[in-house]
Amino acid sequence: MRVLVISDVHSNLAALQAVLEDAGQFDALWSLGDTVGYGPQPNECIATLCAYDHLYIAGNHDWGVLGKIPLDDFNGDARKANLWNREQLDAASLGYLEAAPEAIVEEKVTLAHGSPRYPIWEYLIYASVAKLSFDFFETKLCRVGHTHVPILFALSPDGGDCQASRLPEGEPLTLGQGRYIANPGSVGQPRDGDPRAAYMVIETDSMTLEHRRVAYDVEATQALMRKAGLPRRNISRLELGW
Ligand code: ZN
Repeated sequence: MRVLVISDVHSNLAALQAVLEDAGQFDALWSLGDTVGYGPQPNECIATLCAYDHLYIAGNHDWGVLGKIPLDDFNGDARKANLWNREQLDAASLGYLEAAPEAIVEEKVTLAHGSPRYPIWEYLIYASVAKLSFDFFETKLCRVGHTHVPILFALSPDGGDCQASRLPEGEPLTLGQGRYIANPGSVGQPRDGDPRAAYMVIETDSMTLEHRRVAYDVEATQALMRKAGLPRRNISRLELGW
């Protein structure tokens, strides 16, 4: 089964549309949370995803707009953008976000926004921290988002060693004997120095992953953010990819 894996769309419709067009044919779509927050088009992003039979889970920004977590935990710009997103949401979008589970297992893959240990909040940036998470899921592969940085953590077959690596763009990698946690990066707000929208494709039969990027109309999203009065830093970071 060919699965398109996306995360952290963050209300950036231009980026989401570019990914959906660039991905080619896929049999399933998995979205790893943070569909809303930061960007200017939360309802449009949810409606676009809902045109596909897709699986999705909750992220911290999704819970933020629902009031399920206090916004004191967000930085000032993220909080302002989250409150603006909250005001825009229609009933269908609210229902969609309310229905999101924290973590799921599908096609022998675990899905969690932050980490399998703390699905909503934990950031998996370093291998030393990612290693602890392997005790909190059963499958060979776990998919996470949240950091907006594409990365692969590989646990050795004996469980003793965990290494982090960047997947080269456009070069499919078939997973080996160990266990893995993979992050597709962010569709709507990449933070690895590359402003193009990031996503991954998995072939679940062979457990092959491919990291992909696609340019989108950053200026169109920035113009909508300016019009909405969203925080300036969140607007400028889109063209930098940080
Ligand atoms: Zn995010």
